[in-house]
Amino acid sequence: RTVYVNGEYLPETEAKVSIFDRGFLFADAVYEVTSILDGKLIDFEGHAVRLERSLKELDMASPCSKDELLEIHQKLVELNDINEGLIYLQVSRGSDGDRDFVFPSADTKPTLVLFTQNKPGLADSDASRKGAKVISIEDIRWGRRDIKTVQLLYPSMGKMMAKAAGADDAWMIEDGHVTEGTSNNAYFVKDGTIVTRPLSNDILHGITRKAVLRMAEEAQMKIEERLFTIDEAKEADEAFTTSASAFVMPVVEIDGQQLGDGTPGPIAKRLREIYLEESRAAAI
Ligand code: PMP
Repeated sequence: RTVYVNGEYLPETEAKVSIFDRGFLFADAVYEVTSILDGKLIDFEGHAVRLERSLKELDMASPCSKDELLEIHQKLVELNDINEGLIYLQVSRGSDGDRDFVFPSADTKPTLVLFTQNKPGLADSDASRKGAKVISIEDIRWGRRDIKTVQLLYPSMGKMMAKAAGADDAWMIEDGHVTEGTSNNAYFVKDGTIVTRPLSNDILHGITRKAVLRMAEEAQMKIEERLFTIDEAKEADEAFTTSASAFVMPVVEIDGQQLGDGTPGPIAKRLREIYLEESRAAAI
């Protein structure tokens, strides 16, 4: 695999980042994951805009312009001949060569790393045909989940808890309300209305969430952005999650309770179709 590090395209075995890099020592880094379908980037614009916002919220310098970022993404997809898969981007604050809680001077060069992941069958996945089983866990993450930092230890532990319980993923709960999934935004559908938590610092502002809600509105579906409990979701007709890497994923079981007939619901299936079709048509 060819990867990108700070201006260079290199074999992955030759790519290097300093052990003092603040991404490594302090999780002082932000990231984006963009999906690739038909060899093209899905919603690059949305990811580029969110990246700029994450960097700004952390007073981190931009590594390059949006045009340069697009060029790097497209070149890496081409070099690795990816038809379906993901492209991961990470920007860290870099380092001035020592470990210090205080940020290095503002002219320290950020570290920019990108790599691709080849995933044939991403769009037409078995997982999406079966639907996901989720468990609920407490949300003990920090209070700025709207910034897409690489502090993913708790979400990673959440996935392990799900696995141990025979499920696929976990939805997190804070103050009695569902925040989001470990790596996706969460929704349920009751009597034809789609319910999801409103945007705030408590959840990541999903790029897929924004696109799917727009498409749902265009399809005249009813949407309520409000806080909801896990019990409401368990009593729902159907549920689903959204993320750049899994698009719209039906949820068929919550904490061992089957939703509907235990198969992906009609609204989740329809939204997945619409999302894939429109996103493919707009990919670059
Ligand atoms: N919430 C969290 C916590 C996530 O990690 C992700 C995926 N990175 C999402 C939501 C979904 O965001 P997006 O649609 O931009 O992938």
